[in-house]
Amino acid sequence: MTISTNTNKVSKWDAVWRGYRQRCPHCDSAPLFRVYLKPVERCTHCGENFGHICADDLPPYLTIVVVGHIIVPFFMLTDRLYNLSGWVHGAIWLPLALVLMFYFLPRLKGVVLAWMWRIGLTGNETQSVKAGE
Ligand SMILES: [Zn+2]
Repeated sequence: MTISTNTNKVSKWDAVWRGYRQRCPHCDSAPLFRVYLKPVERCTHCGENFGHICADDLPPYLTIVVVGHIIVPFFMLTDRLYNLSGWVHGAIWLPLALVLMFYFLPRLKGVVLAWMWRIGLTGNETQSVKAGE
């Protein structure tokens, strides 16, 4: 497996912004995912490797934080302003939370993958330490 040494040519924020847009953080010319959350093994334009990077649970955690900070204030505001039953709140906020989750999860996974790619992490660092490498 060849790991790129060209990561320093892209600024960290450019890489993160490209990841958010689900584009290759190296060249910005090809998609970062082949399906919804499955990253490409190699960029179809520049050949950069992404298949070895494991983002693990960070993208879902970030999605929960982002969506929670959007949903909870509006939930609290409507709960204070209107006398709605729990069923009505559920009918409003649960579908909205799902839509926002499906929107943000691939974008935040792109951010995490791009950031990891940019700083040279693969997600296997703790295994390497345990194995004494
Ligand atoms: Zn590329």
